[in-house]
Amino acid sequence: MAIKDYLSTHQRQGEHRSWDVFREKIPTVLLKAWGDVLIECRRNGFIGPRAEGERIVFRQIISTNDIPGDLCTLCYRDCKRRERFDSGEMKYIKDINKNNPSWREPEPCWA
Ligand SMILES: [Zn+2]
Repeated sequence: MAIKDYLSTHQRQGEHRSWDVFREKIPTVLLKAWGDVLIECRRNGFIGPRAEGERIVFRQIISTNDIPGDLCTLCYRDCKRRERFDSGEMKYIKDINKNNPSWREPEPCWA
């Protein structure tokens, strides 16, 4: 069974379902792989996965406390990119380069 099918089965269990109980039915290897996927998704703001038909869809966090998000908003690594956003340095650099067609925003650390 694929993780999509487990999610789908879990979703059909109604309001009193418990992921902590349900997850014990999922093979350890698959659960570990899914955990790794979720960590990577979360770095990009994607949370709350659910099965919809043949796909798994996520919600995405697009801002925190009214500050528009960036690709490292949820980064908990030692992340230079996030530091530059947090300090406002990136905004300054973006402003300077707004008419520079060859400037590209740095890649997120997880890319
Ligand atoms: Zn980062």
